[in-house]
Amino acid sequence: MSTIVQKFGGTSVGSTERIKRMAEKVIQEKKKGHDVVVVVSAMGKTTDTLVKFVSDITTKPSKRERDMLLSTGEQLTISLFAMALQQRGVEAISFTGWQAGIQTDSVLGNAHIESIDTRRIRSELDHGKVVVVAGFQGVTVDGDISTLGRGGSDITAAALAAALKADRCDIFTDVDGVYTSDPRFVPKASKITSLSYEDMKNLAVMGADVLHPRAVKHAKRFGIPLYIKSSFENVTGTLIHGKVKQNEASPVTGITFEKAIHRVDIFDCDDVEEFRESFMCELASRHIQGDVYTQSCRNTLSVLIKEEDLQEVLFILEKGKDRWKYSRIEERSNLSKVSVIGRNLKGRPEIKIRVCRMLLENAVKVKLIGESSISVTAVMEKRDVQSAVECLHTGLGLDYKNKIMASM
Ligand code: ASP
Ligand code: MG
Repeated sequence: MSTIVQKFGGTSVGSTERIKRMAEKVIQEKKKGHDVVVVVSAMGKTTDTLVKFVSDITTKPSKRERDMLLSTGEQLTISLFAMALQQRGVEAISFTGWQAGIQTDSVLGNAHIESIDTRRIRSELDHGKVVVVAGFQGVTVDGDISTLGRGGSDITAAALAAALKADRCDIFTDVDGVYTSDPRFVPKASKITSLSYEDMKNLAVMGADVLHPRAVKHAKRFGIPLYIKSSFENVTGTLIHGKVKQNEASPVTGITFEKAIHRVDIFDCDDVEEFRESFMCELASRHIQGDVYTQSCRNTLSVLIKEEDLQEVLFILEKGKDRWKYSRIEERSNLSKVSVIGRNLKGRPEIKIRVCRMLLENAVKVKLIGESSISVTAVMEKRDVQSAVECLHTGLGLDYKNKIMASM
């Protein structure tokens, strides 16, 4: 019998009415004869509310207690979802992360899944039940509840699909697929109906929040097709898989952006290259994603990070002050970053030149520009992000032209 995993994001389960609607989608698949595992997020903005509760109480929360709290959001949804299925005569059982056998490392708040013991899920599926699993959480070797980082329910879904050798993993969300840029922000963005794991990972790593980048990694390893589609409209979504032929003629896949980032400049480092390396190791050991730039003329290191990682990064720097011997730190907020994502961009210097020119022509003041083989990234004031994304999207020929973009 085939197994499919269906994941429903926060908006899709944002009310009891919506939970009932999503339960119908699960029943449809069950009726087709599939074994179905459901993964859910917390309802609506519940996780944000829980995060706010923490900051109301303390500026230095214990990571263990923070994860204990944040994991409750999903626990609420699983039981309601299972009851919605039972109410419709479908047998269902809900599991938290640890009950589902999801073992993570000990990096609380940003844990990685290490293994999944699927025996309990399998046995319930074999008894004909739909299994509803709480996304975004697991358990450490010490038996503490861990969370996987914001947006982590996607990871739970893809990792479970991989562990169960599922035939497909559906990600139901509030947009109807992956676009050349976020369609809620760029109305002219075009839908990409078929995408390779590699291209999807590049978009996700650089800020496309339609899917968590680590979800792609799990799916890719076991070749699980990921299907991103709308929870509310019955239209073709985006299929992410390994069989897509890359079109070398169009090296640019899309434009991503992060509206709220922090920049930390670290001045007068003793040995900037050595510092860069050991600092990046520190970030990696805590699973913090940061773009690090050196400005060698001034022996300065600049790091771009997400708002939620700021406190931790400042803590790492404070702790390493004697070792790294820098003179001072400056911190900047109200910045955004915009990235052009593609393949082999290092071999195409003309793209960076075009990006710089287009931003200049549109009066966007670039504070920092960097490139890698998958991206050209510019940092700017928050107020400039909309015009930056729009001019690059149009200038690089990505605007919607009456037809959906077929396979890239
Ligand atoms: N509820 C978590 C969050 O809001 C995880 C998720 O929705 O994927 O980040
Ligand atoms: Mg998400």
